[in-house]
Amino acid sequence: MQRCKQCETPIAKSDTACVNCGESVAPVKKKTDFRKKFGKLVTVMFILSAVLTVVALFTSYVGSFIICLSATIVLLMVKKSADEMSSSQQ
Ligand SMILES: [Zn+2]
Repeated sequence: MQRCKQCETPIAKSDTACVNCGESVAPVKKKTDFRKKFGKLVTVMFILSAVLTVVALFTSYVGSFIICLSATIVLLMVKKSADEMSSSQQ
């Protein structure tokens, strides 16, 4: 929960100014940057995981292939939801 710098009043995410004293809230640019960074991180992790899955497929480590495959699927779902989140915010 974000708080007003002047009077410590809790500020809702949708508010652009403090409801108590009218102090303008800093733009939520940081959160957008974080979301973009998170999306990029998930994409990089997804590619790495996909590569590892392919590598594991051509090696005899069947156990690691299953782990890599499940990690790739999980990352794919996380990436999809992160993409949906960032697109709905625009
Ligand atoms: Zn305030």
